[in-house]
Amino acid sequence: MNPLSTADPVAEGELVCSGKGCRAEAVWGLLWNNPKIHTPERRKVWLACDDHRAHLEEFLGLRGFLQQVVPVGELERFAPDAQR
Ligand SMILES: [Zn+2]
Repeated sequence: MNPLSTADPVAEGELVCSGKGCRAEAVWGLLWNNPKIHTPERRKVWLACDDHRAHLEEFLGLRGFLQQVVPVGELERFAPDAQR
């Protein structure tokens, strides 16, 4: 089974790092799940540039939320226009 199939898709053309105040292009997708509010298969996605990957990984890791880190190219994408 593809573990990315339950990850939230990321929009085409909006791959900007989730780091606070960072506008850099994201190269990593951090898949995470908060068992208190998400079903076990759900994967939230944070995007990270090279500079912020370690910080965001640590933030999620300390809380036990981090599941997987993948290159952004492996994330499921959707075109925003196709959703409406
Ligand atoms: Zn960044």
